[in-house]
Amino acid sequence: MRKKVIAGNWKMNMDLSESINLISGLKSALKEKKLNCNVVICPPYISLDTARELVKESDIELGAQNMYFEDSGAYTGEISAEMLKSVGCKFVILGHSERRTIFGETDELINKKVHKAILSKLIPIFCFGETLEERESNRTFDVVKKQVVEGLKGVLHSQMESIILAYEPVWAIGTGKTATPDQAEEVHKFVRNLLEEMYNKETADGVVIQYGGSVKPDNAYELLHMPNIDGALVGGACLKAESFVKIIEGC
Ligand code: PEP
Repeated sequence: MRKKVIAGNWKMNMDLSESINLISGLKSALKEKKLNCNVVICPPYISLDTARELVKESDIELGAQNMYFEDSGAYTGEISAEMLKSVGCKFVILGHSERRTIFGETDELINKKVHKAILSKLIPIFCFGETLEERESNRTFDVVKKQVVEGLKGVLHSQMESIILAYEPVWAIGTGKTATPDQAEEVHKFVRNLLEEMYNKETADGVVIQYGGSVKPDNAYELLHMPNIDGALVGGACLKAESFVKIIEGC
């Protein structure tokens, strides 16, 4: 039985004091609640160490928004898996569409990062999804298949327990346009079948596949109760404790 995971991708928002306020708000709002899902927050790097202290003795877990695949060295501006672990990260978002489109990340680079994260015992939240143009020209399944196959190249059956997938149609990210529950479910089911072909049914059935793209308190419940949607990767709506908690309550 898959346990849902709700992860908040803060992107390049919240300085240190704003981060402290948001985490404090989340902690107090979640304190007395019995959660049906795992909750992850992915603040900017500068807040991770402080966040680690703040989430201690709460149900909130910590993730980062990106990392590089090398261990150390002359990679100005980059951050390694071990560095993320040293500040308490358990998860790392990889292959987000903003990394692919703004920073030119390729499937090959993302695959290297996926391997590095798994070997370092960080759980990748591996993102993929089609653009509006790709959807409108009926290429959604081809694009998703390529990104998933290439992103997971060389990942073993046994390692699939340590990875989360996130279907994020690019046209729905930060636009206010959400995929309908049926549109999202169609792609999630396709990906689950693809994982069955790549691995086997047991492995495919065990993988958490999140949906991301304008998830809000008013659409979360329906999306989160589709058979193959196992959680959400949330951008805009995770920046306010109240809306993030409402989404968590939708599990
Ligand atoms: C995201 O950045 O992963 C995302 C889904 O953003 P939003 O919820 O704002 O669409």
